Amino acid sequence: MELTTPTLVTAAYLVTALLFILAFAGLSKHETAKHGNYFGIAGMTVAIVSTIGLAIDRDGIEVIGYILAAMAVGALIGIWRARSVEMTGMPELIALLHSFVGAAAVLVAYNSFFEAEEDPAVKALYEALGTTGIHNGEVFLGVFIGAVTLTGSIVAFLKLSARMNSAPLVLPARHWLNLAAVVVSLGLMVWFVIDPHLLPLAIMTVIALAFGWHLVASIGGGDMPVVISMLNSYSGWAAAATGFLLNNNLLIVAGALVGSSGAYLSYIMCIGMNRSFISVIAGGFGVETGTVASDVDYGEHREVNAEGAAELLTDAHEVIITPGYGMAVAQAQYPVAELTRSLRERGVNVRFGIHPVAGRLPGHMNVLLAEAKVPYDIVLEMDEINDDFPQTDVVLVIGANDTVNPAAIDEPNSPIAGMPVLHVWESKNVIVFKRSMATGYAGVQNPLFFKENTQMLFGDAKDRVEDIVRAIQSSTAVGAGGDRVVRH
Ligand code: NDP
Repeated sequence: MELTTPTLVTAAYLVTALLFILAFAGLSKHETAKHGNYFGIAGMTVAIVSTIGLAIDRDGIEVIGYILAAMAVGALIGIWRARSVEMTGMPELIALLHSFVGAAAVLVAYNSFFEAEEDPAVKALYEALGTTGIHNGEVFLGVFIGAVTLTGSIVAFLKLSARMNSAPLVLPARHWLNLAAVVVSLGLMVWFVIDPHLLPLAIMTVIALAFGWHLVASIGGGDMPVVISMLNSYSGWAAAATGFLLNNNLLIVAGALVGSSGAYLSYIMCIGMNRSFISVIAGGFGVETGTVASDVDYGEHREVNAEGAAELLTDAHEVIITPGYGMAVAQAQYPVAELTRSLRERGVNVRFGIHPVAGRLPGHMNVLLAEAKVPYDIVLEMDEINDDFPQTDVVLVIGANDTVNPAAIDEPNSPIAGMPVLHVWESKNVIVFKRSMATGYAGVQNPLFFKENTQMLFGDAKDRVEDIVRAIQSSTAVGAGGDRVVRH
């Protein structure tokens, strides 16, 4: 007895596609993100069950053993990695996962090529349908997109995990190299479609692998976020290409959803970062590489301790917290949430200013703050809060650096020039939490640290915020005992 019918499979695919769309809609807001994930899980479950049903009908019940064994191995590795990965390691893990999608697309495309070459029945079928040329084009594009995604994602993984320098690789005539790779690949595609042979496919594979590597290697620190979402998009297109080769409509739909949403996210991030979309996807085309100004002498910096910071905060009416990558490293979101609660109870208006590329992942800070149960309505986007700094008494810069760097505005030669930043220096007092005077991801020194209204609070952000919470609590206790009057 057949487990599936074409109608049943089509219905299952439709339901899955709808669940995937609901998942994307849910993931677009904090409040609904959890439900978005549930829709995604439900969609994937329907997809897997119907695919297993199809496979059993086509190849017999014995395939179930292979499928379950492969799923068990994948699930074990997936569960182990998901449980062991640090929150700070998520971006590079995602980059690595994108490279697997690329590798899968390359393997499926090669398999489809060999199948059509070696199985006369398959070859005859394509000829009878008159789709040999289309199939060759699909194979070629599948390998090309997959290979670019594979090496591009590996470079992103290496850069994000600091195994490779985040500065852009600037080869002589780099844009001509990229253009040559595309033009030669187009020529090879024409050759392959007319006369499908391993040689043009293999030459193009080598070119596409090198092209993907070079494309991402030539992107500098500040533009990496856009590249990450672009690779997300490429992995979607690679999956869609695989769907065409496997004649699987759901894979085409799911791939197109990931591909187009990733491209749109990259576009939004380019607008947020004041970067040209085309120049970023073309490997930094038209962007001059700025000088790294880490050795410029900005003068002396001032320091403050936790007690001093606590005093400033309890005297304040308006406080803005701008978190960055260091908050993720220190896992400081929980004491930050506690500090927020304690200040709000004392009548201080505390809000958060989130830069679109703070951290190492789009939405990184929002996820951490949601995890620590910071109310959504006090977490504002950069554009919503940037005009409020002049009326702010204290800004706490917690592990942020590039995203609060005035050099982006004041220094036209800086590698981050033109990138919009949070104008924290316009407030009355700025306290910067970090461990040293080291630069941020883009490798650029930050003149904010040397401004007159800035004080550095050195040490691990979690420890320092906890110190402040303790200092506030003890000042409250003293106040309650009548020895000291506490405002608010
Ligand atoms: P940065 O990476 O610029 O700076 C983080 C700062 O945190 C460092 O200067 C570091 O200083 C400090 N820090 C690290 N660990 C701790 C700790 N335990 N306690 C206290 N401080 C700590 O952060 P931003 O969030 O401001 O900027 C993000 C950067 O990453 C941007 O350049 C962005 O383009 C890039 N990027 C963003 C991606 C995204 O999608 N969001 C993806 C890829 C890159 P110190 O060592 O002295 O402590």
